[in-house]
Amino acid sequence: MLEQIHRQLAGHPDVTLVAVSKYHPVEALRRAYGEGQRVFGESRVQELLVKREAMPADVEWHFIGHLQRNKVRQIAPFIGMIHSIDTERLLEEVSRQATAAGRVIDVLLQLHVAEEDTKFGFSVDECRTFLASGRWKDLTGVRLRGLMCMATNTDDADRIRHDFRQAAALFHEMAPTVDSAAWNVRSWGMSSDFPIALEEEATHIRVGSLIFGTRG
Ligand SMILES: *Cc1c(COP(=O)(O)O)cnc(C)c1O
Repeated sequence: MLEQIHRQLAGHPDVTLVAVSKYHPVEALRRAYGEGQRVFGESRVQELLVKREAMPADVEWHFIGHLQRNKVRQIAPFIGMIHSIDTERLLEEVSRQATAAGRVIDVLLQLHVAEEDTKFGFSVDECRTFLASGRWKDLTGVRLRGLMCMATNTDDADRIRHDFRQAAALFHEMAPTVDSAAWNVRSWGMSSDFPIALEEEATHIRVGSLIFGTRG
């Protein structure tokens, strides 16, 4: 499966595949590693810490799930990117812990554009307001790289495309406000909808079940 996805990505040389390995055993990650995969996404801190111990040191770990502030310290020394910044307070804590670890951490703001009511993420308006406030400029332990979103959970390709387009539009709208060459990451597309995401400007796709099978 991984090989097939890598083939599909051949026409998109600038897109990063984040292999979402949550709930899957280390052997599954090792297999993917053996096929050349280096970027892995996890959504729980404890699980991430255990897997990191068991995997080669050149794996780049991305955090993609809801992150509790009291757990940031444990991943700050090594995490490659946090896709799921869903509140300003979390961003502040990541900046604080990054600084304590002597690092600057790449982060994405999680946007909720889907039809579902989700507890997590910034609405389009909240994201606009926060970035326009300029408060993030004081947070020197983080580098704002872009936006992450999940599309509505539906078979309706038009609806999914609409969600990704909304995120892409906000990304471009905010570029002058952020005014950074590092503002260049658009993380959208999962197993069921990544081909649409590739058509709608994704730079990072987060694919789990298509690579590792359905979990459980
Ligand atoms: C689990 C998860 C994915 C991967 O989902 P699949 O449908 O298994 O590809 C991507 N992004 C986030 C935020 C996730 O929690």
